[in-house]
Amino acid sequence: MSLISPNAPTAELQALDAAHHMHPFTHGADLAQKGARVITRASGVWLTDSEGERILDGMAGLWCVNIGYGRKELAAAAARQMEELPYYNTFFQTTHVPAIQLSARLAELAPGDLNHVFYASSGSEANDTNIRLVRTYWAEKGQPERQTIISRWNGYHGSSLGSMSLGGMKGMHAQGGAVPGIHHIDQPHWWAEGGDMSPEEFGLERARQLEQAIEEIGPEKVGAFIAEPIQGAGGVIVPPATYWPEIQRIVKKYGILLIADEVICGFGRTGNWFGSQTMGITPDIMTIAKGLSSGYQPIGGSLLSDEVANVISGTEFNHGYTYSGHPVACAVALENLRILDEEGIVARVAQETGPYLREKWQALADHPLVGEAQIEGFMGSIALTPDKSARAAFASDAGTVGYICRERCFANNLVMRHVGDRMIISPPLVLSFDEIDTLIERAVKSLDECHARLKAEGLMVAASHG
Ligand SMILES: *Cc1c(COP(=O)(O)O)cnc(C)c1O
Repeated sequence: MSLISPNAPTAELQALDAAHHMHPFTHGADLAQKGARVITRASGVWLTDSEGERILDGMAGLWCVNIGYGRKELAAAAARQMEELPYYNTFFQTTHVPAIQLSARLAELAPGDLNHVFYASSGSEANDTNIRLVRTYWAEKGQPERQTIISRWNGYHGSSLGSMSLGGMKGMHAQGGAVPGIHHIDQPHWWAEGGDMSPEEFGLERARQLEQAIEEIGPEKVGAFIAEPIQGAGGVIVPPATYWPEIQRIVKKYGILLIADEVICGFGRTGNWFGSQTMGITPDIMTIAKGLSSGYQPIGGSLLSDEVANVISGTEFNHGYTYSGHPVACAVALENLRILDEEGIVARVAQETGPYLREKWQALADHPLVGEAQIEGFMGSIALTPDKSARAAFASDAGTVGYICRERCFANNLVMRHVGDRMIISPPLVLSFDEIDTLIERAVKSLDECHARLKAEGLMVAASHG
């Protein structure tokens, strides 16, 4: 066996990576040409690459490293659990202590009577579970025709076939097709789609699409509505204040289940333990993953209300994953939740660093390239625009400008992602005041450089409305 040395020159690592490793959501040939950035270590909010560059991680990995990198307590929890019981399943009338402890802790943390957990290893798997849960729930209730689940265009619920179908990413649906029985309504994205309406009017209008969809499909055929409290991968879109109360009214009126996909919003991201609390919603099911273990182990799950769990418990639910409630993942998640709680990290986002970041982030709206700046807790977005007053999109293909901006961020050692021509952040929740200043300085520098380049290349041009 010959393994390449971790200290091999970057170009050699990149060549071997390009030869054998296929990257998610990546144009493989383009990346092979360019070479992937090799991340070698990380501590706190800082990544180090194979060239020795230190990069500020404005995305907490993929929205998940809530407690920051390098926490030895989590490594120790994993090592302890691996030595004691590295694996056992929970299928055949067995259980183990980490799963028991984590489930009880999650029931404590979750709002309302969301007291029951069904484990998965990712958010995608958990949302696949949710599709089966909803349909099984209604079948058990004697309403098996309640099959349809309503979700939203530009929502993100994962990449497996079921969860991708719940999601509203058209580029994903186009590759291989979606499963039937899922109906999409429009997103509450006022900046891009609100036209002449006020945000409040628009929020109501978009929420009422749910009611229209239920009436069109037939209320006796709709089982659930799923949405992220705040859309993440769709571009960190904070809905108008009128949106969620109206959605809550509609799901209650028709008696359909509300699934809050908390995979990003959960575990402190919005300044509360869950985004549902920030948005004032009462879901029947919550999807969790990502921040649950701060990404240190792959783990996700579905949190169920007493009512839903009672109904499901009345039958044999023919569903489960080999790694449902994996003991090492559970032990690491528990330790992560302990640190988030005992170090007051969630409270700090709500009361100290969150408000500070909000003030600095919102000031970015004064930049000539920035239309709006939205932020809730530690997830934020800015819309890039050639014309603020018109809330105009660029004439260039969507994402052209965002990509240029992201490249400038990358060059300035800041990880900030783009979704189309929207720039987004979701930093580790342990980002300090000084690090917030650094993040903002680098963001401004990158915006300035991007703006200069757009002007030089004649790209500061608004799309014409047709
Ligand atoms: C990331 C994400 C998922 C999917 O989670 P994976 O662990 O990548 O499968 C689901 N829902 C939301 C809101 C997400 O952001």
